[in-house]
Amino acid sequence: MSSTLAYAAQNAQSPLAPHVIERRAVGPNDVAIDILYCGVCHSDLHTARNEWKNTLYPSVPGHEIVGRVSAVGSNVKQFKVGDIAGVGCMVDSCQHCASCGESLEQYCENGFTGTYNGPVFGGENTFGGYSQHIVVDQRFVLQIRHSADQLAAVAPLLCAGITTYSPLRQWKVGPGQKVGIVGLGGLGHMGVKIAAAMGAHVVLFTTSPNKREDALRLGASEVVVSKNAEEMAAHAISFDFILNTVAAPHDLNPFLNLLKRDATLCLVGAPDSPHPATDVFGLIFKRRRIAGSLIGGIAETQEMLDFCAQHNIVSDIEMIAMQDINQAYERMLKSDVKYRFVIDMASLQA
Ligand SMILES: [Zn+2]
Ligand SMILES: [Zn+2]
Repeated sequence: MSSTLAYAAQNAQSPLAPHVIERRAVGPNDVAIDILYCGVCHSDLHTARNEWKNTLYPSVPGHEIVGRVSAVGSNVKQFKVGDIAGVGCMVDSCQHCASCGESLEQYCENGFTGTYNGPVFGGENTFGGYSQHIVVDQRFVLQIRHSADQLAAVAPLLCAGITTYSPLRQWKVGPGQKVGIVGLGGLGHMGVKIAAAMGAHVVLFTTSPNKREDALRLGASEVVVSKNAEEMAAHAISFDFILNTVAAPHDLNPFLNLLKRDATLCLVGAPDSPHPATDVFGLIFKRRRIAGSLIGGIAETQEMLDFCAQHNIVSDIEMIAMQDINQAYERMLKSDVKYRFVIDMASLQA
């Protein structure tokens, strides 16, 4: 065991504050990582404040981790001391169910172990990346092939990147396709970049006309203000795939009506109350589908990181010190960030 300085919430009301946690000793299959950067995901805030009613305290959030390998176990061949490595949303899974067998650990039928707030239904808590150091089984550690000056902006790929990449791959987005991304936040801005790099014609849907310029800069070919019925109507029955990243409950029907026959609207934003009822006739008459998608498996996460390195894709970030996290949460709630906060973990040394 080794003591590590972290930032934790002690209960749903307390701000995050310094807290010492214990990391396990490095086992034969473990990789120990000194954390350089950790992205700030909306799930961090939900968990710290017990908004999903499943938080184990103390809670140390953070699942967009990039760091430097400081030790490896005797069975570890893929990593050596000094390597740059990543850790995303999962640190373990059962490894014997059908989903694990297909490298889809995120759908583990026995429940994957989250990087923080670990075994949700009982068992030991896990502590995430708002800390100096982490020890993770090598099967859940990712290789980072981006250049050294990009590492902070790589961190959000570990959650926001894979959350958008996985469905875009699953529905085989590519050249010749018209793809919609709904919402331009942490997830949406990654969706635009990745879908554009896959060669699709990307249309960004937003309720804020002032996001137009930024969406075009990020790689969108067109921007549609979704509140404008006329603009929406111009795109009726024309989309091969729409990825909806919006977490607030909203009417899905205007987007369903934009899908071609057999096309899919995939949801990755998790609203805290249901979306209004969907138009079943709109589904039936065009054999349209509504789907969901959760992060991605470890193999696919590595594929995403390599794809992003190859296409020079990182997140647009604002770097903060660990001490600024509570203020950053407040700004996140107002969508006052372009487009992801990343904590510089060097700030935690003091
Ligand atoms: Zn996340
Ligand atoms: Zn499993």
